[in-house]
Amino acid sequence: MAQPRLLRARARSLRSQMRKIGSMMQGSVVYRHMTCGKPNCRCRRGLPHVYLCVTWKEEGKTKTIYVDKTREGEALVLARNYRQHKELLRELTRVNLEILKSRKDG
Ligand SMILES: [Zn+2]
Repeated sequence: MAQPRLLRARARSLRSQMRKIGSMMQGSVVYRHMTCGKPNCRCRRGLPHVYLCVTWKEEGKTKTIYVDKTREGEALVLARNYRQHKELLRELTRVNLEILKSRKDG
């Protein structure tokens, strides 16, 4: 087990990285491929219509909204920031649990 002093330095570094992350959302960007009802549409010939969606969980249920293509970059950044935050939080938790398992005189 690493020394508490080193663990605390690691925790500080993780918190500093977390503060640098911009805005975020607890959701994923997904692309839905759809075919429409028009018989001669290109989607019938293997070129489906692609819709940008954001999905997220709310009280155990998956929710979806359609997002305009002009918001694609924004949506991707918000989702990516959340994934980064989640990874850092997982690591920070691991480090803090190590600190809590150690004696306080370290
Ligand atoms: Zn179509």
